[in-house]
Amino acid sequence: EKMQELCKDMPGVSVEFEGHVPHIGVVKTGCQGICELGPLMRIEPLHYQYVKVQMDDCEEIFKRTVLNKEPVERLFYKKGEESFPTPDDIPFIAKQTRITLENCGRFDAESLDEYIASGGYSALSKALFDMSPRDVIDEVDKSGLRGRGGGGFPTGKKWKQVAAHTDVKEHYVVCNGDEGDPGAFMDGSVMEGDPYRLIEGMTIAAYAVSAQDGYIYVRAEYPLSVERLTHAMAQAEEKGLLGDNILGTDFCFHMHINRGAGAFVCGEGSALTASIEGDRGMPRVKPPRTVDQGLWAKPTVLNNVETFANVPGIVMKGADWFSTIGTEGSPGTKTFSITGSIENTGLIEVPMGTSLREMIYDIGGGIKGGGEFKAVQIGGPSGGCLTAEHLDVGLDFDSVKKYDAIMGSGGLVVMDENTCMVEVARFFMSFTQRESCGKCVPCREGTKRMLEILERIVDGKGVIEDLDTLEELAAMVKNMALCGLGKSAPLPVISTLKTFRNEYEEHILEHK
Ligand code: SF4
Repeated sequence: EKMQELCKDMPGVSVEFEGHVPHIGVVKTGCQGICELGPLMRIEPLHYQYVKVQMDDCEEIFKRTVLNKEPVERLFYKKGEESFPTPDDIPFIAKQTRITLENCGRFDAESLDEYIASGGYSALSKALFDMSPRDVIDEVDKSGLRGRGGGGFPTGKKWKQVAAHTDVKEHYVVCNGDEGDPGAFMDGSVMEGDPYRLIEGMTIAAYAVSAQDGYIYVRAEYPLSVERLTHAMAQAEEKGLLGDNILGTDFCFHMHINRGAGAFVCGEGSALTASIEGDRGMPRVKPPRTVDQGLWAKPTVLNNVETFANVPGIVMKGADWFSTIGTEGSPGTKTFSITGSIENTGLIEVPMGTSLREMIYDIGGGIKGGGEFKAVQIGGPSGGCLTAEHLDVGLDFDSVKKYDAIMGSGGLVVMDENTCMVEVARFFMSFTQRESCGKCVPCREGTKRMLEILERIVDGKGVIEDLDTLEELAAMVKNMALCGLGKSAPLPVISTLKTFRNEYEEHILEHK
């Protein structure tokens, strides 16, 4: 606002940049991902990146950089003696491979024109005019894209199963933007920073599976995502890119937004569709699967934001391009939010198979204050702990499972040597226990009993036998709970008990 005010205060100002007289003004972009360095300001076309900008800096930036093309060096990102003038120089960004986050932080997130100018909607156009719905599905299938919401189910296979229901007229495309994991904000950044990419991806999916309506289920805490998506959908409709007769074809697709009410369990597919239908968001027994009887008991493609955001690139550049990125079993990139005891917290996108070491040290700048790495919680409250021995493991859907963890949607909480792992397990268990919908006994009662034991141990009132009971309960909940929330709720306890049992014992024995 301050910069905008300065631009307005100097009417008639005309500044030449390489022969052009550009518009001088301020646009709000989406998140650039470097949380630690904000507030950020990027000056184009000079491509300077200023970090930690304060109100008092605005006048100097305007006079020196905007009017005279001079850098304000003190606002560049610095590490030691080194100074990094452009976003592409900053290691946090330079070491990433951005596909779904490509436009975040680069464009006005409320300008469909900018999206189109950068190549946006050419994938939809290619799909509609050069490909049959089957061709689109085959391309997505061939790319090997796996659902980024956590499960890693092959996307093309899911689409094929929905499209195969030719006897049912209504098909739906639903996007899971619920993202309830503490410490995760990847999907929110895409919805806020590049809403058009998500809408284009969903529209292509709808064309592929013959869906007429699509729903985006947005987390309650993301009002800006709702605002930007609503705006983007209205613009797309106005330009004939959404709604009836898209791009003059017979294809019609209408999109709607549903706001969640803050329940973590609504990230589970059947609870999410129940919530859209107006019922209480509770998981149901499967089968029937969502692909056969999803929203309003009709065949439904349900993918998360990141999955849909990958689709335009695959359609435009082809499956072969996509499968050269990442690993053989998990092609493409993965976005992660890195938080906790790390120098540069923020949002990153890296090829699948990138090691924790690269993410934490090369991109994240290492442990805060030069501390020692102890563990990372991957996959949110339902995930598990990876430790120093896993630092060089290439992370993908299959590799993390070997270590009692899950990729989840991509939350990484980094912990240093001062973190108490029993406290960590208690924190995550208290979260999942609170979020348990209460429908099935193993989760409703099991997580409660586990939390009681963990609290007892943290309070110094535990007994050594508690550890066996914890293990028994964890196995019972994992094997018998109805939905993914319950099945994965014990994972933080299982993995910390396996690797940091001594910490549990110390809590118990030091109070004896
Ligand atoms: Fe509800 Fe938990 Fe059962 Fe899932 S596992 S249905 S969250 S009680």
